[in-house]
Amino acid sequence: MSYDDQNIFAKILRNELPCIKVYEDELTLSFMDIMPQCDGHTLVIPKVSAVTLFDLPEEYYQACFQTMKKVGEALKIAFSTEGIMMFQLSGEQAGQTVPHLHFHLLPTSIVTLRTK
Ligand code: 5GP
Repeated sequence: MSYDDQNIFAKILRNELPCIKVYEDELTLSFMDIMPQCDGHTLVIPKVSAVTLFDLPEEYYQACFQTMKKVGEALKIAFSTEGIMMFQLSGEQAGQTVPHLHFHLLPTSIVTLRTK
């Protein structure tokens, strides 16, 4: 899949669309999911034109995981939970809907999601 710079997350990165920002640094941005699967559903994206994890330049790997760790620690405190569910869908066949690489962080358990 080639990168389409008109995708929603590219527009958020360019401040053309609003988001509820959770964290930002030079290489990554984290914001609340607009259709949360649970309270506190948060996304982390790299500030680079990557559709899937397979397109991500090496220098962004560590930055993404550092941000996921920081945001995950904050979610643990904010939602009084020890468990944070983290996942990433790479490619349409995997269910990816927004063609800019993103990581999901959910302060919930798979059991809770399944019983909803
Ligand atoms: P995917 O299915 O591609 O892994 O997840 C895309 C996620 O992006 C979904 O959870 C969806 O709710 C979220 N999303 C889609 N459009 C927007 C938007 O405009 N703003 C925000 N903050 N999240 C969005």
